[in-house]
Order: sequence, then structure tokens, then C-alpha cells
Amino acid sequence: MRKTVIVGNWKMNLTLEESMKLASELCDFANKATDIEIGIAPVAPFIGWISTICQNQALGLSAQNAHWENAGAFTGEFSMGQLKQAGCQYVILGHSERRQFFGETDIMVGKKARAAHDHDLTPIICVGETLAERDAGLTISKVLEQVEQGFSLLNQEECIKSICAYEPVWAIGTGRNATPAQAQAVHLAIRQKISAMYGQSVADQLRIQYGGSVKADNISTLLSEPDIDGALVGGASIKADSFIALLKNARFQNLN
Ligand code: PEP
Repeated sequence: MRKTVIVGNWKMNLTLEESMKLASELCDFANKATDIEIGIAPVAPFIGWISTICQNQALGLSAQNAHWENAGAFTGEFSMGQLKQAGCQYVILGHSERRQFFGETDIMVGKKARAAHDHDLTPIICVGETLAERDAGLTISKVLEQVEQGFSLLNQEECIKSICAYEPVWAIGTGRNATPAQAQAVHLAIRQKISAMYGQSVADQLRIQYGGSVKADNISTLLSEPDIDGALVGGASIKADSFIALLKNARFQNLN
């Protein structure tokens, strides 16, 4: 049984005060909702503050990115070890905005996933096709290539402890989400790919999130698909009412 995992990606949003207030409200909710796993990914400069709120609570703390090297002359970057020290449990890797605006490649994502495990962080490895790729019939080949590279440096145990997030680029922040059937088809293909790489038992344990305009009113139908194990949520995660409504519906789906 794979535990539903929902992570809010706050991107470059919210002031320190807003972030701390939202984290506190979500902590209260997460402590009473331990049947699902809940995390937040605030901006990097606030991670230290937010970790004081999340310490010994059920709300997990994620970063949105990190470098694969441990230390050195990489101005503006920070390492997985530094994130771990700051209190993170997860790190989002290869988000499409990182790929699109900052030149992140599949190879870099693979190295980052390796480094995340070296520091006992759970990588959330993001994959997804652009609209042009979907229209050209390249969805599955593109996504599976990203999966292959993203997981390439991990062993079986590390694969199981990772999270994969399928996020069609055309559905992120657009209000246009993949239908549950479209998402399920890709999730199944990812699981089959993981099975080919690591065996069926590993594939059965890997959690695969869906991301792309997930909201309170579509989370239940997405989670009712057999290979959708949670969500990576952008826009709907930066306000307490919309994120808590979404989380409540995810729990309700869990109970049914
Ligand atoms: C995301 O940033 O990962 C995301 C899925 O954003 P949104 O929910 O706003 O589409």
C-alpha cells in the first residue's frame, strides 16, 4: 500500500510572515491527518525559519532545488547536505521551470538525485512533456527518457525511497489539467519503466505524484486512478483555504 503524498511547491511566492503563518496552519492540519503525507516547499531563504515550525511535526519540509556537489565554488548554489542541516526531508528536482528557465538537463537531475540520497533527502524527481511533444505523439518516449536518466544513479532501495512527479508542462499553472485517464496512462508507463529497471517489487512501491493545476475539485478523481499516489501542487498550495480543502478531499478519497 503506497501512502498518498502531497507536496505544495510554493515556487518564488510569499513573504516570510505569510510563509510562517501558512506553515503553522498546515502543521496543525498535518498533525491530525497522518493517514496522508504532507509537505511544503518554501523559498530557500526561509527554510531555516520554516524548519523551526515543522520540527517534530507531521508536516514535511522540502526544497525546490539544490546542487549535486557537496561544497565548493558554486556561487548562488547550495548543497543537499546544507539542506539536510537546515531541516529538509525532501528536495524537488528537475521541475519543468528549472529545465525551461535554468537549463537543467536529465543528466543534472540524475546527479542531483544521487546527491540527495547521499544526504538522506527524498528526491521528488519531476518529469513531463511539453505540449509540442504531446501533440507529436512523443509523451511516453520523452517521459521515460527523463525517468531513465533521473533514476540512473540510484539502487533499488533508493528508488523505493524516491518520489516521481509526472507533471505535463502544458498543465502547470495553466488551469488546464490532464484528464485522470491521460495521467494514469503515463503513470502506468512510468511504473512499467521502473519495473524494467529495478523489478516489479520496486515499481510497486515507488510513489508517483501527478502535478499540473491540481485543485480541491479534481484531486479525488486523480487519486482514484490506480497508479496516481499523490500530487505536487503549485498555485493551490499557497493559500491555506485552497490547500487544506485539497488535502481534505485527498483524505476523503483515501477513506473510500
Ligand atoms: C508545480 O509547480 O509543480 C505545479 C504543478 O503548479 P500548478 O499546480 O500551479 O499547476
